[in-house]
Amino acid sequence: ADKIKMNVPLVEMDGDEMTRIIWKLIKEILLEPYIDLKTEYYDLGLKNRDQTNDQVTVDAANAIKKYGVGVKCATITPNAQRVEEYNLKAMWKSPNGTIRAILDGTVFRTPIVVDSIKPLVKTWKKPITIARHAYGDVYKDVEYRVQSPGKVELVYTPENGNEVRQTIYEFKNPGVVLGMHNLDDSIKSFARSCFNYALDLKQDLWFATKDTISKIYDHRFKDIFQEIFESEYKDKFADAGIEYFYTLIDDAVARVMRSEGGMIWACKNYDGDVMSDMVATAFGSLAMMTSVLVSPDGCYEYEAAHGTVTRHYYRYLKGEETSTNSMATLFAWTGALRKRGELDGINDLVLFADKMEKASIKTIEEGTMTKDLALLSDLPDKKVVNTEEFLIEIKKRFESL
Ligand code: NAD
Repeated sequence: ADKIKMNVPLVEMDGDEMTRIIWKLIKEILLEPYIDLKTEYYDLGLKNRDQTNDQVTVDAANAIKKYGVGVKCATITPNAQRVEEYNLKAMWKSPNGTIRAILDGTVFRTPIVVDSIKPLVKTWKKPITIARHAYGDVYKDVEYRVQSPGKVELVYTPENGNEVRQTIYEFKNPGVVLGMHNLDDSIKSFARSCFNYALDLKQDLWFATKDTISKIYDHRFKDIFQEIFESEYKDKFADAGIEYFYTLIDDAVARVMRSEGGMIWACKNYDGDVMSDMVATAFGSLAMMTSVLVSPDGCYEYEAAHGTVTRHYYRYLKGEETSTNSMATLFAWTGALRKRGELDGINDLVLFADKMEKASIKTIEEGTMTKDLALLSDLPDKKVVNTEEFLIEIKKRFESL
C-alpha cells in the first residue's frame, strides 16, 4: 500500500538513554512502514546539547513556533553527577523549561486508560487531564524567617506615585513570612491555553482557586478566566457542547473524586504540582502518562511525562533484556501526527493515529504488556514481553484492525 504523505514537517526532538532507544524502535517498527515521515530533526541528546552550547534546544523551540507541532523524546536534565558522566561544559538547563519559556505554554497531562488496569478511584471511567499553570506563586516566592520581635510589612514602591504599605504581622515571637506574585499576562496565557485545549478535546474545563480566602490574589485568577471566557470563548464552547465550570478548590477536589472523569482540570501552580502526581498515581503508572505543551497562540509540543528510564538503559548497555513501556512515547507521536493531520487536512494521518492508539490499547487489554504494567494489571493470563516485542505485538494488531 502507498505510504501516507505529509506536507508540513513535524519538529522531531530526539533525546536520551532508554527513551532514545525506544524512539528509534517506534519509528522503525510502527511509523516508517506506513508514513512518509517528514520531520525536521533536532538532536536534543545531552551530547549534542553540550556540543551546541544548548543552541539546539532554542532552535527546536523556534521551529515549533514556525511549524506549530513538535514531538519530543525524554531528555536528561543535567545535575552534578551528569556533568561528570558526560564531561559537560556546563550544567545545561532543563530543555523542557527552555522550550516552555520560549513558547509560553501550559502543560496538560493525561493518563492513557486501559481496561485491565483499574484506577484506584472506582468511579473514574475516563481520563482526567491536569493543566498546571507554570509561572509564579510559591515557586518564585521570597521567604524570611523572623527570629526576634518586630513588624513585617508589604511595601509597594511605584515608579511614579506614593508608596503603599500594609502590615503583614507584628511578631512578638519567632515565625516565618513569604511574599509571592503572579502576572496578569501569564494568567491570561494560561486561561487561553486551557480554553483552546478544552475545545480541541471537546471536554469540559474546570478551574478552581481559593478565592473566598484569597480575595485579591486568587480572585484575580478567577476574574481573568471569567473575562476571557465571556469575551472570547463562550460561543465556541456552546457550539462544541462543552462547559466552563469554576468552583472553590476544596469543592473541586470533592467533585473530582466523585466524578467519572473526562474533564480538563486547570490548576494553579502548586495545586497542579500536587494534583498531577495524585491523579497519575491513581490512574496507575507514570509510563502511561502523556503530556502536551499548548501555547496561547496554538503551538503544540507532545511528549511522555516520564523521564529517560535510566535504570533500564544501564541494563540495556550491559546487553541485558529490558521491558520498558513505550506507550507514552508512542502516544506523543500519535498525538503530534494527529494534530499535523488536522492542521493540514490530511485525514489519513488522523485515522492512522487513531488506529495505532487503538492497536496499542488492544495489545495491553489482551494481556500482552511490559513488566511495569503486569505488576498492576488484574488480568489472569498475562504475557510479559520485552521492549521490542511489545512494539511488534502492537504492529501485529495494527495490521489486523
Ligand atoms: P523516570 O521517569 O525515567 O523514572 C522514574 C521511575 O519510573 C523509574 O523507577 C522507572 O523505572 C519508572 N518508569 C518511568 N518510565 C517508565 C517506562 N516507560 N517503562 C517502565 N518504567 C518506567 O525518572 P527519573 O529516574 O527520575 O529520571 C531519569 C532521567 O530522566 C533524569 O536524567 C531526568 O533528568 C530525566 N527526566 C526527563 C524528563 C523529560 O524529559 N520530560 C522528565 C523527568 C525526568
